[in-house]
Amino acid sequence: MKSQRETAIVIGGSMAGLLAARVLAEHYARVVILERDTLPAAAANRKGAPQGQHAHALLGQGRRIMEQYFPGLTESLVQQGAPLGYGRFFSGGGYFARSPQMPPTLYVSRPCLEAEVRRRVRSIANVEVIDGCDVLGLMADAEGRRVVGVRVLRRHAGASAEVLSAGLVVDAGGRGSRTPAWLEQLGFAAPAVELVEVGMGYASRLYARKPDDLDGDLLINIAPTPDNRRACGMIAQEGDRWIVTLAGYFGDHPPLDDAGFRAFARKLPTPDVFEFISQATPLSDPVSFKFAANQRRRYEHLADFPNGLLVVGDAICSFSPIYGQGMSTAALQVQALDECLAQGQTELPRRFFRKAATAIDIAWSLTVGNDRRLAGAPLPAPKRLLNWYLGKFQVAARRDAEVAMAFLMVGSLFAPPASLLRPRIVWRVLAANLAGPGPTRQGRNQAAHPSLST
Ligand SMILES: Cc1cc2nc3c(=O)[nH]c(=O)nc-3n(C[C@H](O)[C@H](O)[C@H](O)COP(=O)(O)OP(=O)(O)OC[C@H]3O[C@@H](n4cnc5c(N)ncnc54)[C@H](O)[C@@H]3O)c2cc1C
Repeated sequence: MKSQRETAIVIGGSMAGLLAARVLAEHYARVVILERDTLPAAAANRKGAPQGQHAHALLGQGRRIMEQYFPGLTESLVQQGAPLGYGRFFSGGGYFARSPQMPPTLYVSRPCLEAEVRRRVRSIANVEVIDGCDVLGLMADAEGRRVVGVRVLRRHAGASAEVLSAGLVVDAGGRGSRTPAWLEQLGFAAPAVELVEVGMGYASRLYARKPDDLDGDLLINIAPTPDNRRACGMIAQEGDRWIVTLAGYFGDHPPLDDAGFRAFARKLPTPDVFEFISQATPLSDPVSFKFAANQRRRYEHLADFPNGLLVVGDAICSFSPIYGQGMSTAALQVQALDECLAQGQTELPRRFFRKAATAIDIAWSLTVGNDRRLAGAPLPAPKRLLNWYLGKFQVAARRDAEVAMAFLMVGSLFAPPASLLRPRIVWRVLAANLAGPGPTRQGRNQAAHPSLST
């Protein structure tokens, strides 16, 4: 039910903040997004979202939720040139088979997606966006039990700190969120933090795209394995471009010079990306990004938390980017927020953090499970058995489209990992392995393959 009296403030106008504002607008009389950057009018990179210069996959579950809150979003993006189609997914020595049931995936750059979502949020009558504005801290009531607003500093000459009041403050300030420190300033404990180190380096470069590149397919996704911990996302985008993002774990980072970039691609487990970039026209220099560790703040474990405050998106959990889960998990959390607000205000933080944790759990277990496997961490026997099965699963997915589709549904956050252990799937995995290793390389004019990003 909409609380006519109250304002909700969102810290951060990136994907989680925009999605949160869309939902809050249904439940609050007024919603104000406070964003540090001066936001561009059109699709453009900006300082507060440096990830915009790298490959961004929008998983099927994320697109479904965004479409629910912004009907016609996919169509608008297609009209802006974002291609809709199929991709190829390489893992464990070969490409996955394509399922005829696979729906097409939307391939769009991060700045273009963010700009369209921002345009739609700005058009909501009770949402206001204040950009060029730093949130400095939280304001609490006299008892110190409820957050009642924020202290802000607008980024223009002569500005001084001011207070903005709100019935609810939602921190969508990203991985570097200050809420843990602000909680301690208010006398509350900060949440425990789980870190799973990956020491990952990214390098990304744009190339010109011709319609018949990759026989019309729109993605090559190369997943890292313990044998080769290099990964790649080569994704078609609006503007007839490819973005090629190379990534390496544990200090094995792609160089930024032309020869080094190509040499890194040459050591990927399939030569396809190397062969493509060796003859393609680059449209930009490579740019880098370093990502130290998966990070999860366990707000759901806190016994005491102030009313009037929530946290969402990367500020709760940020994942190794190569799995493409951040925006979709933020969308799941925002959906959880919508459901919690529909049930009223009683114990909102406790209810929300529990529900958000459930939404995060699947993506976290997939990412951290694989990253620990890549790190070669000693595993208990049941996990070793599971990893053995996943190895067999990857082989089977090269031959059997139903097995590949089952993996795709998990990777797109539509199905839980346990669905890979359904008796019918286990049987098909074993049968496909008895038939041999399956094809290892995508051939020309051969049916192409599904991607995790559908
Ligand atoms: C290299 C890389 C690649 C990625 N690839 C993918 C992908 O393929 N698919 C996918 O789904 N996800 C991907 N992600 C993750 C995805 O970008 C994020 O999960 C998504 O943007 C949601 O993050 P967020 O909105 O919570 O935080 P962010 O995107 O980090 O945004 C935080 C915002 O808050 C603002 N802000 C912060 N503090 C303040 C303050 N005090 N006052 C005012 N404003 C503030 C910042 O300026 C920024 O705009 C990737 C991330 C990285 C780093």
